Amino acid sequence: MATSIVVLGTGGTIAGTSGQAGANVGYTAAQLSVEQLLAAVPPLAAAARGSLVAEQVAQVDSKDMTHALWQRLVARCLAHLAKEDVAGLVITHGTDTLEETAWLLANVLPAAGKPVVLTCAMRPATALAPDGPQNLLDAVTVAVHPEARGVLVVAAGTIHGPREVVKVHPLRLDAFASGDGGPLGWVEGGQVRWAQARAPQPPLAPHAALAPRLGALPWPRVAIVLSHAGADGLLVDALVAGGVAGIVAGATGNGTLHESLEAALARAQGAGVAVRVASRCPEGRMLAPAQAQWVYLEGLSPVKARISLMLELMAQGA
Ligand code: ASP
Repeated sequence: MATSIVVLGTGGTIAGTSGQAGANVGYTAAQLSVEQLLAAVPPLAAAARGSLVAEQVAQVDSKDMTHALWQRLVARCLAHLAKEDVAGLVITHGTDTLEETAWLLANVLPAAGKPVVLTCAMRPATALAPDGPQNLLDAVTVAVHPEARGVLVVAAGTIHGPREVVKVHPLRLDAFASGDGGPLGWVEGGQVRWAQARAPQPPLAPHAALAPRLGALPWPRVAIVLSHAGADGLLVDALVAGGVAGIVAGATGNGTLHESLEAALARAQGAGVAVRVASRCPEGRMLAPAQAQWVYLEGLSPVKARISLMLELMAQGA
């Protein structure tokens, strides 16, 4: 059977343009359609080893990503993944919240059998040397790889996993990293090289049952509060008074919290607010103490822990 790769466009710098010839900054994201992005990369047709189908799901600067757009993206992913002739998906996305979308999709998509590859760019399409076309080609190359499975991120010739991937630089072309675990692989000269000589098998999505109902469920309000020198309980108390459903505390080091913030979080938990602790440290995984007052989301950044807590609360209420 002829297979196709579906490219879902959501906007971002990869689809950005600037009125200033060749500018790398000061552009407007999300201007070009996904069809225009594909048309600008002639080698894509051969790399896809079948047909390429384009669909514009959204057109946003990903700093403005919303839960409603996420719900729409999940629905379109589900619809395409269910088609027998679709071999995999590529999603063009802004870099700012790419790691959050990747983590959401890894939690809800039943993608164990097919790859869902997110890609992006740090320079707009009108730059002197835009990085988007190569990233798109590399993403399609990964999406057709026979071993590729689950949610992956491809940028600057590197393949990252959804749990580890993090944007670490505001300007550099190679703006993403995978912490001390390292990347899953690389795309070199049109070839995929997996870091462990073979593609990793993605774990089952813990919230796949939620995916078809995401549109019907209210997204609980979950906020992130950072622990830092001089922290106090003001924000936490205000959030509780405002009716927040959950709070993720971005903890210092191995899950430590400023004592004033900790006292406020205990009050919040006592008032029925779900509290989770994630480390501010960009690398490594904290080790939760045996007798823990909080649920520690080990190995998740605060922004990803927020997504996990929202999904957990949605699953409880569903
Ligand atoms: N603000 C842009 C976005 O996230 C940045 C980028 O794509 O590089 O959509």
